[in-house]
Amino acid sequence: MDDFTLTIELKCLFCDSVLQGDTEKELESGDMIKCLECEELNDYDSVLDIAKEEGLEKVKEQALGEVTSRLKGIFK
Ligand SMILES: [Zn+2]
Repeated sequence: MDDFTLTIELKCLFCDSVLQGDTEKELESGDMIKCLECEELNDYDSVLDIAKEEGLEKVKEQALGEVTSRLKGIFK
């Protein structure tokens, strides 16, 4: 599945805005990410957990679409 594109965004737990990570440093477990919109501090681990779940859902949907279109191809 090379033609698979997936973008996962980290979203603010408080206002649902996309979080802009600090590009100067790598985020680690236990870090807090400050939301630029509402200025709340987001726990990196929680934000990541939610992003992972969302990502998993997207992968499932895309994989399902892929399989469906291939099956359709077989019976053309
Ligand atoms: Zn926010």
